[in-house]
Amino acid sequence: MEIVLAKSAGFCFGVDRAVNLVYDMINKGVKVHTLGPIIHNPQLIDDLKSKGVTILEKPEDVAENETVVIRTHGVPRSVYEKMKTEHLNYIDATCPFVQKIHKIVSDVDENTIVFIAGNKNHPEVEGIFGHCKGEYYVFKNLEELKSICENDENIAKKDKIFVSQTTFSLKEWNLCANYVKKVYTNAKIFDTICSATAQRQQDAVNLSKTADLMIIIGGRTSSNTRKLFEVSKENCKSYLIETADELSNISFSGCKRVGVTAGASTPDGIIKEVLETMSEIIKEENIVENDAVVEATEKINDEEMSFEQLLNESFKDDRGNNDGFVVGTVTAVYPTEIQVDIGGKHTGYVKLEELTNDPDAKPEDIVSIGDKLNLIIMKTNDAEGMDPLSKVSFDARKRWIDIADCVESKEIIEGLVTDVIRGGVLAACKGVKVFIPASLSGLRKGEDLNSLKGQTVRFRIIEANPAKRKAVASIRSVLREEKKAAREAFWAEVAEGNVYTGTVKSLTPYGAFVDLGGVDGMIHISELSWNRIKHPGEVVNVGDTVEVYVKSIDAENKKISLGYKKTEDNPWEILKNTVPVGSTKTVKIVGLTSFGAFANVIDGIDGLIHISQIDNKRVENPADVLKVGDEVEVKVTEIDYDKKRVSLSIKALLPEPEKPEEKEVSDEPMIISTDDPESIKLAAAAVEAEEAQAEEE
Ligand code: SF4
Repeated sequence: MEIVLAKSAGFCFGVDRAVNLVYDMINKGVKVHTLGPIIHNPQLIDDLKSKGVTILEKPEDVAENETVVIRTHGVPRSVYEKMKTEHLNYIDATCPFVQKIHKIVSDVDENTIVFIAGNKNHPEVEGIFGHCKGEYYVFKNLEELKSICENDENIAKKDKIFVSQTTFSLKEWNLCANYVKKVYTNAKIFDTICSATAQRQQDAVNLSKTADLMIIIGGRTSSNTRKLFEVSKENCKSYLIETADELSNISFSGCKRVGVTAGASTPDGIIKEVLETMSEIIKEENIVENDAVVEATEKINDEEMSFEQLLNESFKDDRGNNDGFVVGTVTAVYPTEIQVDIGGKHTGYVKLEELTNDPDAKPEDIVSIGDKLNLIIMKTNDAEGMDPLSKVSFDARKRWIDIADCVESKEIIEGLVTDVIRGGVLAACKGVKVFIPASLSGLRKGEDLNSLKGQTVRFRIIEANPAKRKAVASIRSVLREEKKAAREAFWAEVAEGNVYTGTVKSLTPYGAFVDLGGVDGMIHISELSWNRIKHPGEVVNVGDTVEVYVKSIDAENKKISLGYKKTEDNPWEILKNTVPVGSTKTVKIVGLTSFGAFANVIDGIDGLIHISQIDNKRVENPADVLKVGDEVEVKVTEIDYDKKRVSLSIKALLPEPEKPEEKEVSDEPMIISTDDPESIKLAAAAVEAEEAQAEEE
């Protein structure tokens, strides 16, 4: 069975842009609100809430110094006007596709009727008709459109335009557009379904036509996700799920091909989790296992030596036959054989080599007269009444029967991997060798099977045929169960503040997923470093072992937010302890502006040397006396921990400039002779001193 992900699935351009914008602001320490949920995805909204983002109903709820983000759906013109007149801080993340519709409907005069295809209660549609100047109608399908048009004859006479919600159904829109073209000659039709929506719907249609079942991932209130669900269910059985947890209610039994797609507001992390969980569930239902066994066996059968031959090869000392089982009582023990009473007229005998595989063993060391033995009759000899029996064959057959019993009991058994063969490995257990296909070996696709050779592994027997001496086992089944047990144990003891060592599993633009041993948690990008970073990959890589602590737990949705950076690494804490106000330090100039120079105080913190603090003398431009890379001695004059600002001064460490001697000022006018250079100098000095004093005052 195959799982196929649609060509286009997950975040569209508009959502990606809006979500990154909000996370960027959070990282910059801005207190962010969104006007309504930024996108229709509850998991992402929860993550934003955990970062302090609140959802406002009205723009006027935003406080001074706080910022509200307008989401991709856009808002009516009246909201923009209110925010402008009340000088509210806002950032507009309206998708450009939606802005285009606002422009189309605002550009027509109040006598033109605007028809909007969409859901009249959807915020995007509310935003669109909020930009109309005159009469407008909203219709959700061809039927509603017809009813509007047929009940108002004035519509035919007036100018009219037709637009649609960006996520409207492509199929329904085409029906409506064709109808409009037939009934009105003076209608302008604008196809405003966004390309991301159109592409996702088309890909979902194509995939659902070839699939037995479709999984659509996304928020239930997301319009574009619901459209994907609607177009898919026309072609095959379809399910809309928000998270991987909901997969447990779905049966994949009988499916050969399962299609997966996701709404434009579904984060990649959720899609990945669903795909991984699907594989796990499918395996649990044994669908993949059975397919894998059949496929592996078929492949092997095509080879020169079949699986059965390989097994026979590995058991060449065993003797299989079709004789019956019998319980015999030992009546005599000789050096080379024993005699056994098997009831009836016949007597049985067991030769030493049929009693044991050990060539050095003696019959008297193995059995005593009166012992009861399970044996197989090798041949019935009616003429002589003496039947050859075999304990070795019985034991071999019994081992296969025991192995077959393990299928039923689902017992976990241990075995030593002895051979790597085409398509998998052979493991010895309970005296037989079982086949473990590569797909059930617990190794990832492409990993070398030889890494298992010589290892003792734990597995379940999933298929056995004692007559053919054939068994197939699965290591993966045990690993999956152990993982599940680890997950349950984890959820039973997890608490905020707990510290774990985990492995980085994947990176997304907004964080790193860490495997804590069967359960994944996420370190948000803002939690990775005290410094501002653009991508989690600047701090961690996939495969890294990291120590994390639990910041918050969403037990209902099985989500864990992790913390990574430590308080003791906070540069502001380090600054407090190592470079307090009043201390001096040699710092490097890292930037120059017209009002001063920035210098690096410690890793992650730059301070400002204001232009007035560069020298005792007046400095016109910091670049006249300093350059980037210079090392200078400064005094820390002020630290504002709230605003994260450090003030530095070079001047504070310079000796006080000598004040010019105050000369008695004569009331007498100074006589300057142009013939006397000395008198000119004296006059100039006097003017300069007066100016300096004035400036100081
Ligand atoms: S679905 Fe289309 S209109 Fe909506 S945000 Fe994405 S790109 Fe923009």
